[in-house]
Amino acid sequence: MKINIEDIPEDGLVLDLREDGRIVEDKRYGSGFSISSPIKAHLDIRKSGENIDIVGHIEAEMVLKCSRCLKEYVYGVHPKIEIAVQTDFNQTTGDRELMENELDVGYIQGGEIDTTDIILEQLFLGVPIQPLCNPDCKGLCPSCGVELKDGQCSCLSKEVVDPRFAILKNFKVKNSKWTAFD
Ligand SMILES: [Zn+2]
Ligand SMILES: [Zn+2]
Repeated sequence: MKINIEDIPEDGLVLDLREDGRIVEDKRYGSGFSISSPIKAHLDIRKSGENIDIVGHIEAEMVLKCSRCLKEYVYGVHPKIEIAVQTDFNQTTGDRELMENELDVGYIQGGEIDTTDIILEQLFLGVPIQPLCNPDCKGLCPSCGVELKDGQCSCLSKEVVDPRFAILKNFKVKNSKWTAFD
């Protein structure tokens, strides 16, 4: 949704928005997540002079892929929004021409605030760096790929000897023989 800054009333604008979760795919961010429910957003937009303050919150359910077991799982996010946008009006010409603040480019374009961009950006910030379906997720066995949930796969029960450790073992044995001669 686009809001013309000129249309924001003096006492502010309160919006309760519902965006289709598919906007994430539509915007082609290549984000690594999708949204499984409508995105709910509450935005309170206030204008004072050249400053625009946007506060509010978002509610959405992301579908993420666990970084250990690679299964998809639903992750609820509720990011808070606190954005301060400064708009500079061109003083020399007297025109109310809007200059985009370098820090907030994207939020305001052509004198309009794009609420969809704000919502998407906040959702991206809420994506965990290392998504886990469960903090205790044991992931997959590196050799057979079986999910290590409750029990173990058959390869973990066999003794796996790393050839580098085998060399160390022999070295220790020789060492102990030498100490015996002292
Ligand atoms: Zn997992
Ligand atoms: Zn295995």
